[in-house]
Amino acid sequence: MRVPDKESAYTDIHVHAVPRNGKIQAHGWRQALFALAAKRSGAHGAGPEAARTYTENLARYLHSSRYVRRAVLLALDQVYDEHGTPHQEMTGFYVSNEDVLAWCREAPEVFLFGASIHPYRRDALEALERCAEQGAVLVKWLPNSQGIDPADRRLLPFYQKLAKLDLPLLCHTGFEFALPAIHQAYGNLERLRLALEQGVIVIAAHSGSSGLFINRRALTRFKQMLCRYPNLYCDTAALALPNRMEALLWWRNHPELFNRLLFATDFPVPFWTLPWLLFLSRADYIRFAREHNPFDRMAELLKGLGVYPSRDGFESLLQRSR
Ligand SMILES: [Zn+2]
Repeated sequence: MRVPDKESAYTDIHVHAVPRNGKIQAHGWRQALFALAAKRSGAHGAGPEAARTYTENLARYLHSSRYVRRAVLLALDQVYDEHGTPHQEMTGFYVSNEDVLAWCREAPEVFLFGASIHPYRRDALEALERCAEQGAVLVKWLPNSQGIDPADRRLLPFYQKLAKLDLPLLCHTGFEFALPAIHQAYGNLERLRLALEQGVIVIAAHSGSSGLFINRRALTRFKQMLCRYPNLYCDTAALALPNRMEALLWWRNHPELFNRLLFATDFPVPFWTLPWLLFLSRADYIRFAREHNPFDRMAELLKGLGVYPSRDGFESLLQRSR
């Protein structure tokens, strides 16, 4: 595969934004994980300055990337209970839509707005319409940590509105480690059937992998769902991690489904290069391990494995919602 020109390069659909005030609540080992992620992005400490450095570095990486031309910056809404009351004390990580929109406006050539709206919010439908008007390209959920049961029939109006707006739902699948979970079962792939049956374009983050090292069964089930629902897509976010790497190896044998696979890094989730030594040629491994640009590093890994996410897949989804 030759290096594409920028116009035909990938859009990374799964990149995490930080709140503009730089405030991140994390405790214990998660605090260390967040510190590692911040260091990887070149930002140190906390506060508005660190948040700005993080975001400006992201934009710089995208400008200099050979394979990726822009990224969807993701908001992450607070935890709400089923009565529509927000719970700050249960929210592990909150990035508002307003903050993400402000970051996107500073560098519109590289950032796209990924909104997050908790469907139990009393103003969920209005917020959804507002975000669509403001240029959101998708809606992101992390059900395990946000306390959203995707199979809850009370979400039907939300799904119907998403389908009407043609706004994809990028939904975490599998076990969640990075943020405290309220209910791990909410990440179960099967729970997305309700949205799929309403005609929502669903992008299963992490490609339907379980996140628990042994992914084979989850992937077999995922393939069945891809065949059943033409509106189901998935991304490569965090698939370089040891607990999800089996999914990337699985994808090597499923080129017939590459048109449903979208490029994503899950930046700033860290990379572990060493396990890939077993699966890449020596030359490909060296190129991958030496690559400093996090976007190009993921692209080099995929290329080395012979896994090619669809280049125009996300573009055509974007056309539908415009
Ligand atoms: Zn993520």
